[in-house]
Amino acid sequence: MHPFDVLRAGLADLDARALTRRRRVAQTPCTPRMRLDGQRLIAFASNDYLGLASHPALVEAIAEGARRYGAGSGGSHLLGGHTRAHEQLEADLAGYAGGFATHARALSFCTGYMANMAILTALGGRGATIYSDALNHASLIDGARLSRADVRIYPHADAGALGRMMEADAVAAAQAGTADAKNAAAAGKTTGVRIIVTDAVFSMDGDIAPLTALLALAHRHQAWLVVDDAHGFGVHGDDGAGTVAALDLRSPLLVYMGTLGKAAGVAGAFVVAEAPVIEWLIQRARSYIFTTAAAPALAHAASASLALMRGDEGRMRRARLRQRIDAMRAMLLRTAWRVLDSTTAVQPVIAGQNETALRLAGTLQEQGFWVPAVRPPTVPPGTARLRLSLSAAHDMADLERLGEALRRAGAVQRPAPAP
Ligand SMILES: *Cc1c(COP(=O)(O)O)cnc(C)c1O
Repeated sequence: MHPFDVLRAGLADLDARALTRRRRVAQTPCTPRMRLDGQRLIAFASNDYLGLASHPALVEAIAEGARRYGAGSGGSHLLGGHTRAHEQLEADLAGYAGGFATHARALSFCTGYMANMAILTALGGRGATIYSDALNHASLIDGARLSRADVRIYPHADAGALGRMMEADAVAAAQAGTADAKNAAAAGKTTGVRIIVTDAVFSMDGDIAPLTALLALAHRHQAWLVVDDAHGFGVHGDDGAGTVAALDLRSPLLVYMGTLGKAAGVAGAFVVAEAPVIEWLIQRARSYIFTTAAAPALAHAASASLALMRGDEGRMRRARLRQRIDAMRAMLLRTAWRVLDSTTAVQPVIAGQNETALRLAGTLQEQGFWVPAVRPPTVPPGTARLRLSLSAAHDMADLERLGEALRRAGAVQRPAPAP
């Protein structure tokens, strides 16, 4: 087949299954009221949970950072691109999110995707075992694959099932003998290394991982617990330090990853862990080493964002977000749609079939709301949904209008049957 015929057939197949994705062009900053493709819409699509993405102080911080450090970093972190702005950001992050560790250190990344690649490829490797939640984010799935470790998928948020799986693996390893593992350790190989990895807040369901039980398993089996808190950092905990801090977990085995492009409203991501973990990532993580450092202005603005998130402004915004989550959830429960057990800013409305999800998104758009439809492979087949995400910046009146529109649409369109 001609290579272009392969693409044409593939694209036609996506179209036939209502899986074609389309990008909308935003003509305004990320706020709840946006102009998209020329239409004014009230947006429930962003991960800008605290409404900081267009905050004047952060816009000014980017400008100031650019005046101070220029536009680009000019190189990778190990070859001249690591600036005082990055250094300051890492110190700020360790102080903010590192309460779980004895000697916390932080490492900043261009994106969360790259941070997850770094963690799993550097800590894992051939002979290691990665235990991964069935609904983990794509970047964790890809990182696990790239690591060449054995990947074991455990049922979603099921610490009991994971415990049985790890126990069985430990018994099998003991029967196979420990000599191999000892030789491998001496040779610096990763045989016998165990990693549990999970989203803290699941990005498409909005539920929270059983982190306390997972950490107990990590201790029992001397495994790393890698927590991706992309949707919890800035949102959970009194001072917004994230889901691990909110649960008051403490352990040297925790490897905490957060992003700076969601609640923090800027761009980039970070890992916080005990100092030797960070040193290992700097030495070995290819997605850290072989890429140009993020623009220093972004690091400078991220530091400014952390100061906002930690202070009264952040506290006030988290309280506003909490009100909006509770109000929206109460309204969703009064519609005929199936909703999930989420107490976070991610509130999915399950439509089932791809076409149903697209039709519902279309109906809402006609009424001035933008709530994106999410389809496989982002979510499992048959669970296509609207991913409604809330922000502290949303107007209560807009929430009520959306709730009413969903209620009316639910009365007309056939909601998905319960699974
Ligand atoms: C968004 C997200 C990422 C990726 O972060 P980026 O900075 O956008 O690359 C990783 N994990 C989860 C759970 C996410 O939601």
